Formats: sequence, C-alpha cells, structure tokens
Amino acid sequence: MVSNPSPRLEDALPAAFSGSRVVVTGAAGFLGSHLCERLIAYGASAVGLDDLSTGRTRNLVALDEVDAFELLPHDVTLPLAVPGEVDHVFHLASPASPRDYGLAPVRTLVTGSAGTLHALTLAAQKQARIVVASTSEVYGDPLLHPQQEEHWGNVNPVGPRSMYDEAKRYAEALTVAFARTAQVSSAIVRIFNTYGPRMRPDDGRAVPTFIAQALTDQPLTVAGDGSQTRSLCFVDDTVTGLLALAASQELGPVNIGNPHEITMLQLAETIRRLTGSMSPIIHTELPGDDPRRRCPDITRARQLLGWEPTVRLEDGLSRTIDAARVTASDPVPTGGAR
Ligand code: NAD
Repeated sequence: MVSNPSPRLEDALPAAFSGSRVVVTGAAGFLGSHLCERLIAYGASAVGLDDLSTGRTRNLVALDEVDAFELLPHDVTLPLAVPGEVDHVFHLASPASPRDYGLAPVRTLVTGSAGTLHALTLAAQKQARIVVASTSEVYGDPLLHPQQEEHWGNVNPVGPRSMYDEAKRYAEALTVAFARTAQVSSAIVRIFNTYGPRMRPDDGRAVPTFIAQALTDQPLTVAGDGSQTRSLCFVDDTVTGLLALAASQELGPVNIGNPHEITMLQLAETIRRLTGSMSPIIHTELPGDDPRRRCPDITRARQLLGWEPTVRLEDGLSRTIDAARVTASDPVPTGGAR
C-alpha cells in the first residue's frame, strides 16, 4: 500500500510518468525497489541496473511478472548501455549505510565518481532528465541547524565517513558540471535518513537494527546516551520527493527528508513499544564520527516541488515492523545502531 502524496502531486505525478521509459540504477536496493514499484504503478516502464552488492532481487519480487520492468545485472563503475529511448534516469547505485561503505571504501568512491559519470553520460546520450541521489552526509558535521541547501557542509575529507561523503560531494559537482556544459537536464536530491520495509536488518542503520533486536528479544543497542537526534522519513514520502524533483525542471540541490526530529533513545523506546517487546535498552560506545543532530530544512522542496512528508513516524514504523516480521529469519545484528 502506497501512502497518498499531497493532493497536487497525487494527480500530477502519474500523468508525468505514464508512458515514459525510466532507468533506475540501484534498482534492487531499498529505495530503488520502492521507486520502481511506484513507476510501474504510474504506468511507466523501467529498466533497473544493479550489481546486487547491497541490494537483493527479492526486493523486486512484486515486479517479477511485470513486462514493463526489467532488471539488468550491471556494475555502474563500467559504462552503461541501455538500448532504446530513455526519458528519465534515477541514479541511486551506491552503498548507503555506514556499515556497507565502511567495508568497501575504495569501491564507494569509484561508484560515486565513475558510476555517476556513466549515469550522467547515459542521460546525455539519451537526452534524458537525470536525478542523482546525494545525501545529507554532504553537510558532514553541520554548522547550521536545520540544514539548508545553502550550507556548504563541514566534512572531514580523511575521516571515517569520507569515502561516502566525498563521493557524494564529487557526484554533486559532476552533476552540476554536466548541467552547465553538456546541457543535460539534471537534478541533485539530498536524501535524509529514510526508513521502511526492505531495509536489511544487518545494515547497521538504527531502524532495522532496533526492529530486528526487538523482534528477537535481544537488547536494543543505543549508541552513547541516545540523546543524538535523527529525522526519519518514510520511504513512500521519499519516493514521492524523488519523483516530484524528476517531474520538475529544478537542478537543486533539494533536501528531501522529514523535519520531525527524534532522539535515538526515543526511537528505541517507540520501536520497543510498537513491537510489544520486553527487550532491555543497553548503551554501546558512540562512534567518533556520529553526527549529533541531523534535520532537513525542506522549505525549498515545499516551495519548488509542492512536496512534504505525509506519513507519521508511528504509522511508518508500524508498517516497517509488519514487513520485518515476515523476514524475521534474517541474521540479527549485535553492534551499536546509528
Ligand atoms: P541500498 O544499499 O539498499 O541500495 C543501493 C543499491 O545500489 C543496491 O541495490 C546495490 O546493490 C546497488 N549498487 C551499489 N553499488 C553499485 C554499483 N557499483 N553498480 C550497480 N549497483 C550498485 O541503499 P538505499 O538506502 O536504497 O540508497 C539508495 C541511494 O540513496 C544511495 O545512493 C544512497 O546514497 C542514497 N541515500 C539513501 C538514504 C537512506 O536513508 N536510505 C539517505 C541518503 C542517501
């Protein structure tokens, strides 16, 4: 079940994508699979490209029998060749969780650089509009709160998250360079923490970690004292934001995220209550690079795209928990959640 976007977008987006042909890199991942399902629901056809490094084909099981969808195994660090016309490209391929990119730092940088170059080159060849997925991590340890797009960021280029932060900052610079010199219709979306069904329970991110722990009666591992905040956006809302940006002519960058801020301790307590778990909450060491606060200013998305999140945290968490109960046989994480 897809949550309703705002009334204006609810009408505009299906009309914008119906009959179009769309390429999605990272299609088998968490965000990519939800995006592909929505595109198909709107009457588009979609070609997914994925090397399955962090994604899973079972994320796309709902599209198995759909003729309008095709998944091509492909590593985007190699040039992309997609036959036929393409109207839109969504470039999402990249490791996305600190655990995933920490395990593959060089690959993360090559995916953000060469992979983005290849996605932009495909868009230029096809005269397609491209949306490149950036991240709130480009703000680093932000000097401004909440984070506005004008903030240039405060990033440590040699820090423990630098392989991801700098890959995304380079990807943004490359996207702007293509827009300015190659007349490619491009857009940069800075995605803030998104959660929902299909996140891997072992990817180290807070929501799937707490849910997996709660469902198996293991302690919920909160890093530090848990007073650090996150702003969590349900995946349906984020997907609507990506589509709204693609349907516009804006270059951005545009923040897409939910400005409702919650502490990690409150998040753990909420998940424990919603799952009915009796697990204790324990505290683990705070990683050195953990941002204290992260919250998007979404004025630009509201004004330029008519977008804002619509799903309440408890509703989104309940839907995520319901989905996780079905996949509860996956391995249970033990480390601190972020
Ligand atoms: P994910 O790991 O679930 O999905 C990423 C997908 O990209 C996976 O299917 C993976 O197999 C694929 N991929 C990785 N490297 C590839 C390569 N070289 N070639 C082809 N495919 C490759 O992560 P996600 O959460 O769905 O994130 C999707 C995008 O959104 C990423 O670019 C990420 O940086 C961005 N983002 C996500 C969030 C979030 O909260 N989920 C926040 C900010 C930004």
